[in-house]
Amino acid sequence: MGIGRSRALILGAFLLLAVVGLSRGQGGGEKPGSDSAIRHVQQERLWGTLQKLGEFGKNPEGGVSRVGFTEADLAGRAYVTGLMREAGLEVRVDPAGNIFGRRMGSANLPVLLFGSHIDSVPHGGNFDGDVGSLGAIEVIRSLNEQKVKTRHPLEVVVWTNEEGGRFYSGLVGSSAAAGILPANIAERRDDKGEKLSDWMSRMGGDVSRIKEAKITPGSVASYLELHIEQGAVMDEAKVPIGVVLGIVGISEQTCTASGFANHAGTTPMNRRKDALAAASRAVLAVREEVHADAGRQVGTVGWMKVEPGAANVIPGQVKFSVELRDLDAEKIKRIDTRILQRFESIGKDENVQISCTEPDFLAPALTAPAFREVISASAKEAGLNTVELPSGAGHDAQNVARFAPVGMIFVPSRGGISHSPLEYSSPEQVANGAEVLYRTILRLDAQLDASNTPH
Ligand SMILES: [Zn+2]
Repeated sequence: MGIGRSRALILGAFLLLAVVGLSRGQGGGEKPGSDSAIRHVQQERLWGTLQKLGEFGKNPEGGVSRVGFTEADLAGRAYVTGLMREAGLEVRVDPAGNIFGRRMGSANLPVLLFGSHIDSVPHGGNFDGDVGSLGAIEVIRSLNEQKVKTRHPLEVVVWTNEEGGRFYSGLVGSSAAAGILPANIAERRDDKGEKLSDWMSRMGGDVSRIKEAKITPGSVASYLELHIEQGAVMDEAKVPIGVVLGIVGISEQTCTASGFANHAGTTPMNRRKDALAAASRAVLAVREEVHADAGRQVGTVGWMKVEPGAANVIPGQVKFSVELRDLDAEKIKRIDTRILQRFESIGKDENVQISCTEPDFLAPALTAPAFREVISASAKEAGLNTVELPSGAGHDAQNVARFAPVGMIFVPSRGGISHSPLEYSSPEQVANGAEVLYRTILRLDAQLDASNTPH
């Protein structure tokens, strides 16, 4: 999305270079064919930092409740900031509380940005966000050890409050970076009356200057995010590296079936306007229409509110949600149109009116095809199989895609479980992801702005 013609041309050039690079065995500086067993990142060290971060907001179930804008979040941020400084990064916190750690490059080039988040959902796990944030820091440590200099400056980022909950729906830091935070964000309070602005100050941010957190297009040459899959595709297929095609778009609307509430004992079956019977058929119609097309699109009716909601009254009104997700915005719209047509005919059949609000639409964010190639090549070079897949969950990368080309690397989640203390990826799976991140960054450093020689 939002990639202009010149950027598209540049991306095309990267793609070519990626192919050339692969045939020459570039990246990480090894000879082709002999380097698949080499690991630049240190698995034990990375695992150790993951365990340590898991102590901040630790909950009895074995996961963490490190919700953004809480004491646990502040403690976790202090820990990762310390790790960044130890790794020699120059640390700064922007007005939105995003933590950036910079490593100088040898040329005057835009930055290669990579990272994730460290806040969790309540009763969350130790891997969502943490793997990408600590994997990014591990890459820096490994580059330092191997005395690798890059042409581009490198920046590790830990985005503020990805999961949301207290003051905003989530992706707070990356929304500020993309310049799409609502204007009234400064006045937000939670149910206890605590102010977002106070928490932001405690994190080193400043809501009065939040506009300054906007990142100018062109200043970031690439953004990479390593993350757990949060689904079961890779675990079931036993594939260690996922190359993310993009983050799906979401259409969400509320529909109302309006019938007539009447006595459940005295109203004969043929005289009813049963809103729940109609809504129930509507739920099945959503599933049928989503199934009717080939592909990986999903559709869900997640809630339903029945009025008046008594055993002896025919339901007069039912409200329910319809949510559709896919990488292809047009496909979402097509399926939604068909769903609305089905609702109309169900309504006629049931003598009930079904109407829906205009959908709230969050556009899909595609990863840069050239970056997918580079990630695949890096994984192959490290002896790791890949699978291409969409991300059904939201990520900060979808906001970054508004101002820079993005790529995402997935590692498997055991049983596809996430947002739970049972969330788990093995030390080796996590290290595989960090290794691919390491190699991808070096390949991009060599390939992006290739005409701009070091000085
Ligand atoms: Zn996450």
